[in-house]
Amino acid sequence: MENQVFKDAVVIGNGPSGITLSYMLSGNWPYYNEVPHPIDFLQYRLEENRDKSLLQQDLIYLSEGLEGRSVNPVSVLFDTLVRPQADLGIENPSVISWKFNSENVLDHVILGKGIPGGSWQKMDGSTLTISLSSWMELPNLSIREWDASRNRLHSTQSGLRQKRATVGTVAEYYSCCVQSQGLSSYFVNNTVVTSIAPVPTETANDLGYKHLWKIHGYFDNSSNLSIPKRSFNYVSPHVVLATGNSDQPNKLNVEGQDLPFVLHSLADLEKIIHKNRILSNSGSLVIVGAGLSAADAVIAARFYGIPIIHVFRRSVNDPGLIFNKLPQDIYPEYHKVHQMMKDSNRVHYEGYKAFPCSKIHSIKPDGTVIISSCENESFSVCKVSYVLVLIGRHPDMSFLSNDLKLGIHPERPIDCKKNPIDINIYTHESVSYPGLYAVGPLVGDNFVRFVQGGCLAVASHIQNDVLNKIG
Ligand SMILES: Cc1cc2nc3c(=O)[nH]c(=O)nc-3n(C[C@H](O)[C@H](O)[C@H](O)COP(=O)(O)OP(=O)(O)OC[C@H]3O[C@@H](n4cnc5c(N)ncnc54)[C@H](O)[C@@H]3O)c2cc1C
Repeated sequence: MENQVFKDAVVIGNGPSGITLSYMLSGNWPYYNEVPHPIDFLQYRLEENRDKSLLQQDLIYLSEGLEGRSVNPVSVLFDTLVRPQADLGIENPSVISWKFNSENVLDHVILGKGIPGGSWQKMDGSTLTISLSSWMELPNLSIREWDASRNRLHSTQSGLRQKRATVGTVAEYYSCCVQSQGLSSYFVNNTVVTSIAPVPTETANDLGYKHLWKIHGYFDNSSNLSIPKRSFNYVSPHVVLATGNSDQPNKLNVEGQDLPFVLHSLADLEKIIHKNRILSNSGSLVIVGAGLSAADAVIAARFYGIPIIHVFRRSVNDPGLIFNKLPQDIYPEYHKVHQMMKDSNRVHYEGYKAFPCSKIHSIKPDGTVIISSCENESFSVCKVSYVLVLIGRHPDMSFLSNDLKLGIHPERPIDCKKNPIDINIYTHESVSYPGLYAVGPLVGDNFVRFVQGGCLAVASHIQNDVLNKIG
């Protein structure tokens, strides 16, 4: 165990999940604040234990019978407490208040690539969030108040005039949360975890633990090569996987997919546009995909006057298409893109052509792209400058050894939709590996408002485990 730093908990990932966990593990506990809750039976349960923090309560009992848009009951519970009736469009006050107690501070570390904010720091900052801005909030820091105070400070206009915030505002809010909530000392940023492995049980037992984990990685010096690349080693009885779903783009699986002009994020396209390497008269851009990221790319490319060829597999009327699920008044820009996708074969849109029910067959080094129809055997050929593939992302779990079978289908790789990590839904602890926890997209919670309940479940379990050990 030499050269290994011991922590009560090690969290991998510094996004909204990592920040929320750090807030709770650093001694900030949620309590019922006596504000009446619109759900009577929940109100009754909250009153029963009004002096105890939620962290100390029976989360199974509290969450029983609640319904919401997460498969994880504690995620639904937390969301119901902080945003009562939010899905009915009602803005009720939170029934949770946070209290700091120095006796509850756990020695933990949050490791993560880049600066705090996780995937939000890598997205294109100019796009709008899908969620309402108040749904992007982390514990105990109102995003509206934060925005108002920074605008007063810098005498600028409010960035949150609309119901939805820009991704850039949210990213800034997340990194400010870490500072303003006094969490900076727990964050070791620009770090990459390369392996986690269980310490042999005998060694763990000798040290007084039922189980221990080793966490190894390095400090990423790619933005400043004058700093030597150093490694780190931690050992802890509790490791939380909060690594999100954004690290690897889904690829097309066709000839030419790795050619240098094939891009996989809107941020990459923006970089090229800003370097003036793509101009409106330099040839078309193929955008592949029919999700919101692809729609954002269509909007951005049209803004810059870049001709677009839009290729997507689904039919425009497919009820599963995300556009069919978004209310028009809140998402007018996406409905405009959907309209263009629908009309493109009848109506002429300058600089936009859609290929519905189609896929990329192959991409040649000279920029030729062959598009094949999914409906018949026909092919279309075009010559382009760039191909932007936005067909989803998947987690990079390369730091897990192949022996660790964590998914609900143990033999398959982790996939946030089809094979999430198999957890006890009330503690978020792996069912197969005690001491290993998972939150956020890795367990099916894809929205920031829901990842926080998973953090509550984890913090509660870790806190009780540490107290039991001391006891
Ligand atoms: C384009 C887009 C728009 C979105 N819009 C919304 C929205 O409007 N509302 C909403 O609620 N949600 C939205 N989401 C989803 C939201 O981003 C996620 O649900 C949320 O960020 C999950 O938080 P997290 O902390 O669990 O993971 P992340 O934010 O993904 O953070 C995890 C961090 O861990 C890092 N990491 C991974 N592996 C390692 C490793 N080995 N070592 C060190 N660090 C590692 C990752 O690089 C990442 O920085 C959107 C997602 C995308 C892609």
